[in-house]
Amino acid sequence: MEHDLVLRGGRVIDPGCGRDETTDVAFTGGKVSAVGPGLRGRTERQVEDCLVMPGNIDFHTHVYWGGTSISIDGDALAKRCGTTTWLDVGSAGPGNFAGFRKHVMEVSQTRILAYLHVSHAGIFAFSPQIMVGESQDMRLMDTATCAEVARANADLIRGIKVRIGANTSGVNGIAPLYHALEAADRAGMPVMCHIDRPPPRYVDVLELLRPGDTLTHCYKPFPNAPCTADGRVKEACWQARERGVIFDIGHGKGSFDFAVAEAMMAGGFPPDIISSDVHVLCIDGPAFDNMETMSKFLYLGMPLADIVRAVTVTPAKVLGRPDLADLSIGSTGDATVMRIEEGTFTFEDVSGQTRTGRQRFALDSMVVGGALWHAAAARTA
Ligand SMILES: [Zn+2]
Repeated sequence: MEHDLVLRGGRVIDPGCGRDETTDVAFTGGKVSAVGPGLRGRTERQVEDCLVMPGNIDFHTHVYWGGTSISIDGDALAKRCGTTTWLDVGSAGPGNFAGFRKHVMEVSQTRILAYLHVSHAGIFAFSPQIMVGESQDMRLMDTATCAEVARANADLIRGIKVRIGANTSGVNGIAPLYHALEAADRAGMPVMCHIDRPPPRYVDVLELLRPGDTLTHCYKPFPNAPCTADGRVKEACWQARERGVIFDIGHGKGSFDFAVAEAMMAGGFPPDIISSDVHVLCIDGPAFDNMETMSKFLYLGMPLADIVRAVTVTPAKVLGRPDLADLSIGSTGDATVMRIEEGTFTFEDVSGQTRTGRQRFALDSMVVGGALWHAAAARTA
């Protein structure tokens, strides 16, 4: 049988299927059509020195480009970092989701799913010049409309987003999270909660989250770090994980600290999901994109299969889209092909701390909907 496309001879890492072997992967009609040696395709790409993984899901991004000042152009950035599915979390709210759907999601070549902000117009005032928290005015919170829009667009909206903390909810403190939980209850969806400076405290937020809800910015620096000054993982983190709360990195401009990450990894508390929180203020560093964030976890010693799981199987499960996360026959035909480069690489966190690593991921190519969507030029170290 001749397939549409075959990736030949790569190291296929597919944690959902427990696969880590050198073989071929074939795509036909938009789906994965075969995995095994000696496959033939109308288009073939030799990927012998590469890792072939299910399509990269970046679980915390802002890609309502042109509609909100926080957002970046997903299709353009994908060609740098290999993300095949963007989860936009809260760039849009119930008042402006229709434009996101029609003008961005429906015309994007890479996939976009969303968590809908509980605040009416989402993150509407986030730019180098203007910074007004959308959770600072409780008149913007309407849980009934939020749930209605979420339910009506449930093919694309998979949860409810809220931002709380001194920077984003201000004097309202934790109250906007109550509204997000209420909207989520009405819609039958999970919540993702952002946290920044207290109040509220990290542990107060964790206490409210339910199984399947996500805390993003989980490795943020002090104040509101997940560990104590002497590097112990806070008890509330263990309790929340035990209960089924998801811990997501959401690197961004202010939410990934190497000292905190080292303490958490040493304490046996790796993140469930690795995501970039890429937006207009961190696309040129320190976050850059999800490939750079994954490289930081290579530096931190996270096993390769666990890194892949944190950008495929786990986010797909939370999204209720397991078809996006494995390379078994019949799954959605998305794949991200990367090499691991050896060299000397400097990684920077949001506090200005740097670390020098010996390896990083580099993009080779991407398959989206069963077709070779992008093949990168050779990247020089
Ligand atoms: Zn964000």
